[in-house]
Amino acid sequence: MTIRRIVDLLRHGQPDDTVTIQGWVRTKREQKEFTFVEVNDGSAMAGLQVVLNQDLPDYAEVIKILNTGASVKVAGILVVSPAKGQRIELRADTVTVYGDADPETYPLQKKRHSFEFLRTIGHLRSRTNTLGAVFRVRNACSTAIHNFFQERGFLWVHTPIITASDCEGAGELFTVTSLDLGSVPKTKTGDIDFEQDFFGRRAYLTVSGQLEAEILAMAFTNVYTFGPTFRAENSNTSRHLAEFWMVEPEMAFCDLDGNIELAEAFLKYVFQYVLETCPEDMEFFNQRIDDSVLATADNIINNEFAQITYTDAIALLEKADRTFEFPVSWGLDLQSEHERYLAEVQFKKPVIVTDYPTQIKAFYMRLNDNGKTVRAMDILAPKIGEIVGGSQREERLDVLERRIDAQGMPKESLWWYLDLRRYGTVPHAGFGLGFERLVQFMTGMTNIRDVIPFPRTPLSAEF
Ligand code: ATP
Ligand code: MN
Repeated sequence: MTIRRIVDLLRHGQPDDTVTIQGWVRTKREQKEFTFVEVNDGSAMAGLQVVLNQDLPDYAEVIKILNTGASVKVAGILVVSPAKGQRIELRADTVTVYGDADPETYPLQKKRHSFEFLRTIGHLRSRTNTLGAVFRVRNACSTAIHNFFQERGFLWVHTPIITASDCEGAGELFTVTSLDLGSVPKTKTGDIDFEQDFFGRRAYLTVSGQLEAEILAMAFTNVYTFGPTFRAENSNTSRHLAEFWMVEPEMAFCDLDGNIELAEAFLKYVFQYVLETCPEDMEFFNQRIDDSVLATADNIINNEFAQITYTDAIALLEKADRTFEFPVSWGLDLQSEHERYLAEVQFKKPVIVTDYPTQIKAFYMRLNDNGKTVRAMDILAPKIGEIVGGSQREERLDVLERRIDAQGMPKESLWWYLDLRRYGTVPHAGFGLGFERLVQFMTGMTNIRDVIPFPRTPLSAEF
């Protein structure tokens, strides 16, 4: 007998169908002659109502252990449900209990739990409505991302997780070592001798796959990465994780305008896909988490994003009728409060900010003719702030070398990156999208720790 997914039965099950399901009990309601049990297998927000009649074999014992959290297999017949809000229910013929869950100690009660509490039970929280919906939407987002790029002929490439290039976010890197931390080898000058380490040099967890993606774009034209990245950021914010997933397309023969076009089409596509494939979950977020979730999705899909240069954005912020905690002036990086003001108050939709000052952006961004700004673009979203960071890359060898020197970076370790400008260089561009920020934006979840199954943050790596 095949096991049916509950989502399929809820959508397509017909009265008189003989079916078997498996799942976990969400609720139990005992009546005089029968008991209702709601069984959920994670395939949908709703569970299937199972009706156990008192003439089932071992009825009394089965009912006693079928408490919230218990795992069961139920075989029976679908019938039209007389109850409101559900089309069908399952009249049980046989019930097998795999494992019970002591109601005295099972941490998930019927009442609403805070997300803070749920984080302390990371091994059980996926069984709740909200986390269940989040992880189904997360799955749909991943699928949409691959579909989007695959439909456009992008190659999915796997960039390394362990890397020796430390040129991106200095200070935010986790070191990877197999040295004995109890007796670390030292050089004559007293520094740690990484030559004796596993790779013969110091290695890190990657903060971005971009530099390697550029290598592959110079062979395959259009590529993307979608994998984990790591940042030892000690900022305990609701938008930063130490381990998060990033989507990074990289396109050869592409300038900043092409990059912006792709990013906007990409976000529209992903929102559309999730609305189509997870309507109940999105409805739930709109009702229970943030009542602007559906309007936001509609806004993303149907309206053009706003676009403004950094210089004009600063002018707007300087004129804003509010005082910001952090100062605003040309040359300073935008803080989250500035980003949110632009997206939430000024434009009321995602806004693409371009052409940032050279000093606050990475060395690889293409220098504008004015010498002061670079071809960068960040997409700022209401409530989230920066969700995408991208740029056209510097493809001119001499300019790139000057930028590297100006930042005091070691050119030797970037020899291969410079080689790409020596051999068949082309204009190219790409961006990085924080996957968890996208899921946050889509679901209205306020804390990034609640959109990844096992969040890694300062002082927290349980589960
Ligand atoms: P922020 O200023 O918000 O820290 P960033 O400038 O460090 O972002 P980038 O280096 O441009 O970000 O990374 C690309 C994208 O990755 C960002 O737009 C954001 O969506 C996401 N991102 C960056 N850091 C984190 C983090 N610690 N946790 C989750 N997502 C992140
Ligand atoms: Mn950062």
